[in-house]
Amino acid sequence: MVELVLALNAGSSNLKCALFEAGGEEPTEVGRTKVDIHGPMADAAAVAELLAWAQALHPSGRLVAVGHRVVHGGASFQEPTLVDEPVLAMLDELSPLAPLHQPQSLATIRAVTTARPDLPQAACFDTAFHRTLPAVATRFGLPRGFHDAGVRRYGFHGLSYEHIAERLRMLDPAMAAGRVIVAHLGSGASLCAMINGRSIDTTMGFSPLDGLVMNTRCGELDPGVVIYLQNHQGLTIAEVQDLLYRRSGLLGVSGISGDMRELLSSSAANAREAVDLFVFRVARNVGALAASLGGIDGIVFTAGIGENSPAIRALIAERLSWLGLSLDDAANQRGGQGRIDSVGGRLAAWVIPTDEERMIAKQTLATAARGRPGKPRAAQ
Ligand code: AMP
Repeated sequence: MVELVLALNAGSSNLKCALFEAGGEEPTEVGRTKVDIHGPMADAAAVAELLAWAQALHPSGRLVAVGHRVVHGGASFQEPTLVDEPVLAMLDELSPLAPLHQPQSLATIRAVTTARPDLPQAACFDTAFHRTLPAVATRFGLPRGFHDAGVRRYGFHGLSYEHIAERLRMLDPAMAAGRVIVAHLGSGASLCAMINGRSIDTTMGFSPLDGLVMNTRCGELDPGVVIYLQNHQGLTIAEVQDLLYRRSGLLGVSGISGDMRELLSSSAANAREAVDLFVFRVARNVGALAASLGGIDGIVFTAGIGENSPAIRALIAERLSWLGLSLDDAANQRGGQGRIDSVGGRLAAWVIPTDEERMIAKQTLATAARGRPGKPRAAQ
């Protein structure tokens, strides 16, 4: 009987899901779907719907494992792990570090445990890919006791970056072996600097709030602003959290939408300002990460905006022409996966679609094969 693995990727308001056949070197995709999550019974109902969907899609297959994207693994979880109650309790403790994402992933894991207690489940961490960050890239300028207690830079979007690193190795091995910046530009957005496919710097730090301007998240912000908002504008901590996670970014600056498509099609000046800020911050941080890399050989665009918006890619390239980035207009407009730099450019540029669910499936199968919940590594 064909063995199947279900990959679940819980966002703040929906649950993406993909079903794969195990066996062979790579899992084979059977299909994918997405359900919205609303209301208190949401997680159980969504999981029931997805389990029924998987069964109907492949009636002769047998589900052998479920994998989940878990945004924060903290300092302890540096590789995927099977989930049991002690692991879940440790992951619960990390929820304040990613309040929009972590509780949703954990609720989904618990809903699967209730529906199918027989199935092994793996937690696949967005932070884990960044375990190779050099110590200097993990540190804030805070007293060292805070770092030792876990207040440090972790980095996110690791499942996406690992997938892109693998794909790039196949598509352009010479570039993959060099100094590459991957721009994961979606609702959440970050950059990762890689040398030979290993993360050496990234724009998100302690939480998914840091770095680039995002759909509703502010990105990098002078910490003095947070103190000021509380001391002088009377915002409570909960209000600050809501402001920075849900009401800022493209939505906050434009006052129109956090959706890049809508902003690009709007003629409002505020929409244009939000787009300009997004592009400015991407370009500025590419410059910063190029310094971390000691030079740059190529750039990869991925995720919703990075994959689908020639206009944003062109605006970013315009600001990075000094670095030697020059796009081929026709290739940039064509869409889909492919190389998009122009012949005269110094930097290679690719568009490569991301696939977090495939990475979840791969990690889950490998983790399930190893068996028993992974012992987290000691914090460093
Ligand atoms: P993701 O979180 O990776 O699904 O990306 C979602 C973001 O991608 C949203 O801001 C969308 O507006 C944006 N997006 C998707 N398609 C396009 C497109 N054709 N042009 C510009 N932005 C797009």
